[in-house]
Amino acid sequence: MSSVLSLQNITKYYGQVRALNNVSFDVPEGSVFGILGPNGSGKTTLLSIILDVLKANAGTFSWFGQPNSPELRKKIGSLLETPNFYHYLSATDNLKITQAISGRGATSDIDDVLKKVNLYERRKSSFKTYSLGMKQRLAIAAALLGAPQVLVLDEPTNGLDPVGIAEIRHLIVNLKNQGHTVIMASHLLDEVEKVCTHVAILKTGNLLTTGNVEEVLTDEDVVEAGASDLELLSGILQQISKNVTINHESNTVFAAFPKGTAHLDEINSLCFHKGIVLNHLLLKKKRLETKFFELTNNET
Ligand code: ATP
Repeated sequence: MSSVLSLQNITKYYGQVRALNNVSFDVPEGSVFGILGPNGSGKTTLLSIILDVLKANAGTFSWFGQPNSPELRKKIGSLLETPNFYHYLSATDNLKITQAISGRGATSDIDDVLKKVNLYERRKSSFKTYSLGMKQRLAIAAALLGAPQVLVLDEPTNGLDPVGIAEIRHLIVNLKNQGHTVIMASHLLDEVEKVCTHVAILKTGNLLTTGNVEEVLTDEDVVEAGASDLELLSGILQQISKNVTINHESNTVFAAFPKGTAHLDEINSLCFHKGIVLNHLLLKKKRLETKFFELTNNET
């Protein structure tokens, strides 16, 4: 799979503040690529650099393996900040204005982009009658003018209610299925986990990990076990796992093993021989949230 975007050693300072430190990764064509990180980790700075809004202090990036050019930029649609739409104008009229100002696409594309974001039926309603989710979808429609191959979205579900979030998620999956590559920054891990095929995780400007979501998620087996004496259970599991934690909230013990090496029957039998009766034993796929929490809580 070829890369639509390749970053090499991007570093960015704001005065003394280092917002990005030597960040390198590739975005595969056709992916939904999530740039994840807590507040202040450098996500918006990174998106601003790849969209030429900011200049990096060091490092390079290339779109489609080529040096940046106005022609290439036409293949990239972006939504960094919510555009200022006119409240009393309809969706169609707002997009006519956006199209005229940006010069992207043609007025004849407007119906198409409204259909893509599922606002065609409401195209004549004025912007002020839209829900927040609809407003956000209109902003994505604006970014889709000119049929860009790649869409760059900063926190596309920010401020939306669960229904609005689900609509945007659905839209992003549809865009991917129609052949677009989507690059999105988010701190909503659960949403990212549902929609992204690939991730890069940032913390204070450092890239902690990147790759296919499945790979990032499943590089470890996590076993969840329960027994009446959690301390004793934890002690026994420590004989076979280097990473054992007691979760008092769920009354369980988590034990991590290298991928593919956790065997529940062996664990059950070991505990039995040590005189512990398990009331719970489960092999879990490591969730992105657990992984993210772990990564961002360890100093790098
Ligand atoms: P958030 O989720 O809060 O939007 P983010 O991951 O997008 O955060 P950035 O906005 O890229 O992070 O900020 C990265 C770092 O750079 C932070 O420490 C921030 O305070 C700092 N920073 C961002 N913009 C500026 C600026 N214009 N001047 C000085 N420092 C800045």
